Amino acid sequence: MIKKAFKDLGLDPSASLDEIKKKYRKLMFRFHPDINPNANIETFHKITESYNTLRDFKEGKLSPLSDLRRSYVHLIRKLVPDVYVRMSKENFNNADILKFDINIYCDNCIRDSKIPCFKCMKKGYLDFKVGKVVRKRECSNCAGRGFLWECDRCGGKGFYKKSIELSKNKAFKIKDDLYLLKETGNEYKGHRSDVYIILL
Ligand SMILES: [Zn+2]
Ligand SMILES: [Zn+2]
Repeated sequence: MIKKAFKDLGLDPSASLDEIKKKYRKLMFRFHPDINPNANIETFHKITESYNTLRDFKEGKLSPLSDLRRSYVHLIRKLVPDVYVRMSKENFNNADILKFDINIYCDNCIRDSKIPCFKCMKKGYLDFKVGKVVRKRECSNCAGRGFLWECDRCGGKGFYKKSIELSKNKAFKIKDDLYLLKETGNEYKGHRSDVYIILL
């Protein structure tokens, strides 16, 4: 499992926790659906899962006893992925309060009901043209599932938008153009993901 996780992230098994974190961040720029809408969602989940395994391994949290807890944490992280917000340097520098929209995972949906999505004709994706090339984009109406759930809160999408306003003081600087807001992102049953702010 550990060996495979190193391989998934394209890392040497001697890599340090810092190197693992750095590589993960780099990969997220390529594979996170918020940054690259054409990225393969399976790859995104695989990388995230391997990263969580390696981090737990390096932090000494990996033991058979914690397996159950870990699979629960993995599930939650899958449901509430980190959020990447893009913002111009100018807006960021001038703001005292940071404002952005995030997706909140909806726990009101009746998930055994399936209502066909007519925006994408149940396909889960929409075709769009880049020059002569036809590419696929995830259907935003059904979040790529091809169907909606019964829900009067989110309309069956599985998540709903929430506007966030936060003091800039809470943003932790990682690099000149990357800031972290811990546990302010997606939310599900009391669990919250992190928000990364990318300055353009
Ligand atoms: Zn819902
Ligand atoms: Zn759809």
